[in-house]
Amino acid sequence: FEQLSTVDPEIAGVVLGELDRLRGGLQLIASENLTSPAVLAALGSTLTNKYAEGYPGRRYYGGCAEVDRAEEIGIARAKELFAADHANLQPHSGASANLAAYAALVQPGDTVLAMDLPHGGHLTHGSRVNFSGKWFHTVGYTVRRDTELIDYDEVRDLARAHRPKMIICGATAYPRLIDFARFREIADEVDAYLMVDAAHFIGLVAGKAVPSPVPYADVVCATTHKVLRGPRGGMILCRESLASRIDKAVFPFTQGGPLMHAVAAKAVALREAAQPEFRAYATQVVSNAQALAAGLADAGMRPVSGGTDTHLALIDLREAGVTGADAEARCDAAAITLNKNAIPYDPQKPMVASGIRVGTPSVTTQGMREGEMRQVAALIARAVRTDPGEPGGADGLTRIAADVADLVAAFPAYPRG
Ligand code: PLP
Repeated sequence: FEQLSTVDPEIAGVVLGELDRLRGGLQLIASENLTSPAVLAALGSTLTNKYAEGYPGRRYYGGCAEVDRAEEIGIARAKELFAADHANLQPHSGASANLAAYAALVQPGDTVLAMDLPHGGHLTHGSRVNFSGKWFHTVGYTVRRDTELIDYDEVRDLARAHRPKMIICGATAYPRLIDFARFREIADEVDAYLMVDAAHFIGLVAGKAVPSPVPYADVVCATTHKVLRGPRGGMILCRESLASRIDKAVFPFTQGGPLMHAVAAKAVALREAAQPEFRAYATQVVSNAQALAAGLADAGMRPVSGGTDTHLALIDLREAGVTGADAEARCDAAAITLNKNAIPYDPQKPMVASGIRVGTPSVTTQGMREGEMRQVAALIARAVRTDPGEPGGADGLTRIAADVADLVAAFPAYPRG
């Protein structure tokens, strides 16, 4: 870091400023986490220099013996941890992993059945502004109005009516377990591939806190930077019969040279995720999300579907009379970082939204437990109801930020020294 400060004080300032932000506030974005110093060390290593197009033992460049070892070790760890036939650690991100899965399994113009974005799906599940919606004929399934759970009968009806080549399950803002066996049954009935987008919850699978999609899916796509707590990036797991198609879809079809520093950092994270402490952490992530959701419910903010089985809760703010956008801004001013989020059948536009999404990976990594989650819920409830446009509102948010600082002081992110 001394080198960085000397060569580029401006960017060094950004890095330090971000560290201060992480240390001084509550990080409740469900898709974020705090990676370990070991992962950061691999990311900041000279492996970033190496061109290694291809796969271990089959590269288009010389000098790949060392990076081959990193990738082989990472692949072996992923296969063992997830009991998968095959693993590819090269996707640059979750979206890149999904693009490769499409490339391996379907052709442009084919029909794909996936969760509607406003009901919790991801952009890559058929949004019109994304490759998935532009190049494929996508049909969306929803959650039921009454239970706010996936409507498996609707999924089956849509599958029978549209005969998709691929069905996708896995979401960005769905707090409940997904019935992979049911999706497999539906996919088999219409002879479709089943792709599980486990971007959000693969870390819970690694820690055995939720069931694994691997036995049911043809292909599992994931990110490595969310609950899994690795570097920003993607990963694909699949059956042996699809291994070669997946590898070719990642390179050379959708990507060039892999980011070998990131591949090595993924290997480090996979080793960490195989330790007993990681299981305890994953279980605690879920318990914390449940405690946080219950605390917010007690404060008059309804968790969508009544609660959560995972690392995140989606909160309907309509009874509090505050939009998701206002809640996000107020929490931001109180050093609580979370995001506005559409709720199912949301009457508001996505940039306004009627809800917020909260997640517990980062605060659990910091060592917080259920008791702290009740305090966090109370802090969120105060911030959401404090209008900076009202007299005393801005000072009120500053006072909440001070209370947040007191709470997080006992659970420092990246402790000094
Ligand atoms: N799939 C799902 C379900 C996601 O939630 C996300 C990101 O949040 C992605 C894919 C894309 O991951 P990335 O942002 O790494 O491209």
